[in-house]
Amino acid sequence: MASSAVALVSKFGIKNARALENVSVVVVGAGIAGLGAASMLRKHGATVTVLEAKDHTGGRLLTDWSMGPPFEVGAGWIHGPSSDNPTKQLADAVNAQYVVTDDENAVFYDLNGYEYDEDEVERIVDAWEGVLEHIDNTYEVNDPRSLLQAIKDYRPAYLDDPGIMWVFSAFTEFSKGGAIEKLSAPLFNWDEAFDGADVVVTSGYDEILKPLKEGLDIRLSHAVSDIKYSAEDGVVIRTDKGAFEADYCICTVPLGVLKAGNITFTPELPGDYREPIAKLGFGSVTKLALKFEEPFWDIETQYFGITTEPKGRWNYWLSYRTFSDENILLGLSVGDYALVADRMSDAEMVEDALEVLRTVWEDDVTEPVEVLATHWATDPYTLGAYAFPQPGNRKSDFDGLGEPIADRLIFAGEHTIFDYAGTTHGAYMTGLRAAEYIIDEEG
Ligand SMILES: Cc1cc2nc3c(=O)[nH]c(=O)nc-3n(C[C@H](O)[C@H](O)[C@H](O)COP(=O)(O)OP(=O)(O)OC[C@H]3O[C@@H](n4cnc5c(N)ncnc54)[C@H](O)[C@@H]3O)c2cc1C
Repeated sequence: MASSAVALVSKFGIKNARALENVSVVVVGAGIAGLGAASMLRKHGATVTVLEAKDHTGGRLLTDWSMGPPFEVGAGWIHGPSSDNPTKQLADAVNAQYVVTDDENAVFYDLNGYEYDEDEVERIVDAWEGVLEHIDNTYEVNDPRSLLQAIKDYRPAYLDDPGIMWVFSAFTEFSKGGAIEKLSAPLFNWDEAFDGADVVVTSGYDEILKPLKEGLDIRLSHAVSDIKYSAEDGVVIRTDKGAFEADYCICTVPLGVLKAGNITFTPELPGDYREPIAKLGFGSVTKLALKFEEPFWDIETQYFGITTEPKGRWNYWLSYRTFSDENILLGLSVGDYALVADRMSDAEMVEDALEVLRTVWEDDVTEPVEVLATHWATDPYTLGAYAFPQPGNRKSDFDGLGEPIADRLIFAGEHTIFDYAGTTHGAYMTGLRAAEYIIDEEG
């Protein structure tokens, strides 16, 4: 873990609960970054108002209980749940229940639905690791190639090998949130991670936000349209329900919303914010939970990898039977296919996914009795899943976005931290970082 991030999290005791008594802050967005910032500032005595466009808090951290066990609409795992992971600390504080997921407990199938034997799995995984190692050893940080180009330059035959393309999609496109065609070869794997095997939170991931929300003035269904900022006069934030004035604004809306220009900034954002907003990658990940009367798969197996075309189409599946009594398969579409899947109706998505399952289980596949699907790319207040580095990006494109503008406007959110982008802990750290700026300025 980067030492600066450890310092960031550990330094946040409450120094002086009244230090910010005369300071007002509007936080835009009630995801983990916004709630983290707001909670910290309130504890230091600031007057904080949180404006959230949706009718609920959580943003990309949201649990749906309608199927019985938790369906995580956004974040599903705590990645690297070591004791220094700030998300794990939040989860421990609410006595969350976990199940460690086991990447080794997996079976992989080829394009025709036949199981890969052990040697073939080893060959595929070795090829994937070989490319990552080659990039690590030979690429300069500013190399402009995409991951796809890097594979092509190193082992062109891999591009015609469906098994190897599957592993790049199911592992890399899923974890990074972007297609290998769009990921920066030198940067995509340079981020940091906490230790420990990933866990799912069986007591519901979004429960961890509860303590952060305590005592906060959260205005739901308040969509922000304009943010005016000035070093002398503070900030004015306009919503569909009126305007809010404050000394500072912390803006945590997702990168997709900033890219779409759905909030007008006055004055216009400086170029060194506009450019990274335009150039950073923001893709999608589609989740589809299918509940069946009876399992038609081996209930001892946790993950099923299915080689599919096009790449990214329902190529990884998690069986809920390994941590609940429900016959639920959670399918994932990733890379550019997620952008296609997100635009399907739920019924189209189910048909598409069942076609993939039938390549393996043929006529044993039954109609699902319940379905839950996500559409992050078309959610107007998110417009994608999580940020990733594209060719030509630099680490500072992420981190620079978190630098205060005119000492009044501060961006936070998962897209403002290179080392931990695309995670709940990264987003939370940026909320604390933004709060820290105000505490240091005013405290
Ligand atoms: C499908 C998916 C799977 C993921 N899997 C994982 C995982 O397994 N593990 C992990 O650690 N992370 C995962 N992530 C990433 C993680 O969920 C995010 O990094 C994190 O939740 C982002 O938090 P945030 O506060 O930056 O943004 P958000 O949670 O998106 O919060 C921003 C808030 O701003 C609000 N908003 C937007 N526009 C406006 C407006 N105009 N006015 C007012 N409010 C507005 C939004 O409604 C939202 O509530 C996943 C994300 C997705 C989408």
